[in-house]
Amino acid sequence: MTTAKEKYLELLKELIAIPSVSAKREHLPEAANRIAKALTELGGETTVDDSYFAPLVISHFKSEKPDAKKVMIYNHYDVQPAEPFDLWKSDPWTLTQKDGLLIGRGVDDDKGNLTARLTAVAEYLEEHENGLPVDVTFVVEGSEETASQHLDDYFKKHPELQADLIIWESGAKDKDEHPVITGGNKGIVTFNLKAKTGGFDLHSSLAAVVQSAPFRLSQALSTLFDENGRIAVPHFYDEVRKPNEREKQLVADLKDTREDFVQKNEVLAPLLTDLRDEDWKQALYFEPTLNIERITTGYQGAGVKTVLPAEALAKLEARLVPGMDPDLTLKAIESHLAARGFDDIVVEKTLGQAGYRSDMTDPEIIRTIDVHKDHFDEEPVVIPTSAGTGPMNYAYQAIKAPIVGFGIGYPGSLDHAPNENIRLKDYDDNIEVLKEIIASYET
Ligand SMILES: [Zn+2]
Repeated sequence: MTTAKEKYLELLKELIAIPSVSAKREHLPEAANRIAKALTELGGETTVDDSYFAPLVISHFKSEKPDAKKVMIYNHYDVQPAEPFDLWKSDPWTLTQKDGLLIGRGVDDDKGNLTARLTAVAEYLEEHENGLPVDVTFVVEGSEETASQHLDDYFKKHPELQADLIIWESGAKDKDEHPVITGGNKGIVTFNLKAKTGGFDLHSSLAAVVQSAPFRLSQALSTLFDENGRIAVPHFYDEVRKPNEREKQLVADLKDTREDFVQKNEVLAPLLTDLRDEDWKQALYFEPTLNIERITTGYQGAGVKTVLPAEALAKLEARLVPGMDPDLTLKAIESHLAARGFDDIVVEKTLGQAGYRSDMTDPEIIRTIDVHKDHFDEEPVVIPTSAGTGPMNYAYQAIKAPIVGFGIGYPGSLDHAPNENIRLKDYDDNIEVLKEIIASYET
């Protein structure tokens, strides 16, 4: 007889074989429908809402227990592109098992997390004839890797979605093999700045008289920061929610050292936090950022072209901490540029979402921390917010329940990169952890 674990590993294999790349908008309904079928077979009351290009799968598993609490499990079936293909040691779209690892695009981010959680619910149901002691709702979206473009609207369309606790998509053990629990993520606003100084590129002898677009743009960019990289845009920090004492302590307790950080990231330039005499860990987790991702202008080919470019483009992003609004942040940048005489620079928003941090003292979050503690026989590392970005805030705004993330990854998981992989041992541990969280609602 096939066990639940084998069954959902088979599902994982099928899901990995569907190249559901949201950036290319490919194979998204196919992945959604396959997941919906699995959820229905397991007994969930399942809906596929295909209002937008990436269908949302919702599946409810009702508890028979009176006044049962509600847990929502959020995952996504879309993945990052697998390119560059030549750096993969196995086919990215074939789930490959080797040396205790499972390898394939999306195995950690996020299809493997979903199938581990399905396995946990299936095993729990097999082992308990009275069913679940808690309502479990799976919400599986398909545009997480492209800023969860319609998740907000989907939540608005489904006011029936409710929860006391939201379990987020993923997580990873730290480099010392400690289990990690995360309670938030940063938001983001991405945008372009464009300078146009003429109708067409000119002969560069005219630089004696005429400003080039790269000159204009770099002047504008330089007003955004002081000499130590501190963001110099008035009102940028106005709404920043400062970490409380517990949050600061949780980050201070993280074992990472400045030296490891510099070495791991092969950083050659001085750390901005050193220049400013700030704590790098507190800055990494709790400070907003403003980053220039790319500057393009002029001739990019081989050899020399003496030209005075008429157009220049910079792509930027700001990572936002809770309290900050993507549009207001961009407005502050726009007003600042205008006030400094750069009202000719065109500001164009590309993507935006707000950040979120859970209260890590919430009893529902403590429940998950306690289960980790029992299961791994050690205190998990609790990180109040990840330095990265995700759509937690959409879920929080809609559901108003605390959110906590943990999962099957480890520091070598290579999410978004070639040879993405997980360790089977972590996969198995996570199945047990979720079963134990479900069981914690029995009493
Ligand atoms: Zn993900």
